[in-house]
Amino acid sequence: MTRQPSSQPSTGNPAITISARGAERLRSGHVWVYSSDVLKAAAGPGSIVDVMDGRGRVFGTAFYSSSSQIALRLLSPKTLPAAAAIQQLIPERVGAAIDYRQRVVAGSDAYRLVFSEADGLPGLIVDRYGAILSLQILTQGMDSPELRHSVLDALVSRLAPAAIIERVDPRIRELEKLPALPTRVAWADGMAIGANAPEARVPALAFCMNGVRFQFDPMAGQKTGAFLDQRENYAAAARYAHGNALDCFCYHGGFALHLARACSSVAGVDSSRAALECAEANARLNGCEIEWIEANAFDLLKDYAAARREYDTVVLDPPAFARNRASVPTALGGYKELNLRALRMLRPNGILVTCSCSHHVSEADLLGVLASAALDAHRTVRILERRGASLDHPAILTIPETAYLKCIIGSVI
Ligand code: SAH
Repeated sequence: MTRQPSSQPSTGNPAITISARGAERLRSGHVWVYSSDVLKAAAGPGSIVDVMDGRGRVFGTAFYSSSSQIALRLLSPKTLPAAAAIQQLIPERVGAAIDYRQRVVAGSDAYRLVFSEADGLPGLIVDRYGAILSLQILTQGMDSPELRHSVLDALVSRLAPAAIIERVDPRIRELEKLPALPTRVAWADGMAIGANAPEARVPALAFCMNGVRFQFDPMAGQKTGAFLDQRENYAAAARYAHGNALDCFCYHGGFALHLARACSSVAGVDSSRAALECAEANARLNGCEIEWIEANAFDLLKDYAAARREYDTVVLDPPAFARNRASVPTALGGYKELNLRALRMLRPNGILVTCSCSHHVSEADLLGVLASAALDAHRTVRILERRGASLDHPAILTIPETAYLKCIIGSVI
């Protein structure tokens, strides 16, 4: 099955001509066209454009980026004038994204509300933390004042939040050649949309996932504040976890705090002291005792394995090792080392929860590394679950990059 291009009426949007390879990618159901597949682009940074191939066949309307390697992100396979995209399509898609979360999220007041391309809103992330929404704009296209207004308006009218924070990733703004912005309050209750927010800081608050409480500082931390994509995996890990547990790369303690409900003792390891301080505050909030260890997890696992330490449950959730295709072999070496050491330390019937959040590393790659580590460690691993990100981070079949997170739960014989 391929998506068929059509000839459609002109919209007044600038037109961009793409190569046969770019056209093929769109026909396969993807929404990206790389800059190497753009033949003619007479459009300003961030414009809403119509996409066609060299023969004049039209593929729809897209955001154009003048600086990203991803030059086009398709908004709609139908062409539509820029004003309609802003006034109709944005509120409709934000509304549909919220409706979807209402169907799939339970037991949490923190989850992703809008996940960029996976919700038909390329370059827009919105996370909910209780009464606060945290928004990130990642592309030139989404960065326009009109679109920001349309997004804020849709969120405020549907959800009536207490405040909306705009979190800024300076690295991404630089890549997209967008002017620097501070992380700030983009809207607060009682404020007109688009007005300058008072110099207010939104107070820290607590949110809840699967009955576990977390502190949240809306203006700090990695991502928008938490790794919400692991929410369902925390609960799954806790269903199998037992005995003494080690959570490697624990950040604010997402896995560790869940494991504490099932395990006799839990330790969490991270190289970031700030992350561990927050993890300890989270442990206090939940009335549980966890040992937090500031260390390089690679060194610690090596030392612990050499000292013949034993565990019943080990979690490995490292940062993305492979940021591009070229770094995949090195990344796989890193995963192998971690998994090998964990397998050596697990007691019979021990539980290994091993994750990768690099989309360049496939589930098959991760299973391959695990198999090779199991052979070297002379252990047999029963696969209990092969999981992905929580359902509020939808994976779109024809956009493989949306299925970036892998989480394998195994039992070691
Ligand atoms: N498991 C966490 C998310 C982990 S993100 C959760 O569910 O919330 C990756 C974490 O690894 C970050 O907190 C980062 O500080 C930490 N980190 C990166 N390199 C590390 C290393 N070599 N050793 C230990 N921690 C590391």
